[in-house]
Amino acid sequence: MYCPVCGAESTQGLNYCKRCGAGLSGPATPVDSKASFGKMLGLILPVALVCIGGFIALFTTVYNLGERSGFDTRALIAIMGFGGATVVCVVGLLVWLLLRLASYEPTAR
Ligand SMILES: [Zn+2]
Repeated sequence: MYCPVCGAESTQGLNYCKRCGAGLSGPATPVDSKASFGKMLGLILPVALVCIGGFIALFTTVYNLGERSGFDTRALIAIMGFGGATVVCVVGLLVWLLLRLASYEPTAR
């Protein structure tokens, strides 16, 4: 095994180079927590916007339909349930993909 910094040969099993003191146990690059936090926030924000926008669209649709006279209340409840389930499914899928992305990232580097 050779030191990646000074090139001196070192004994297998040592954590540090005998000559220059550089770490030999692989690239121990510290994770930039601030950058990854910003990246996570950039991924979470669209998910939150999709969630909020989806529910706003759903509630305005149901409200406008409810304003019309003679509209079946059961149909409104069905639209509400189906729309809500759709929004929850889409947001759940996005969160699942986001978590996969977040867990995949350290190995990609
Ligand atoms: Zn060295």
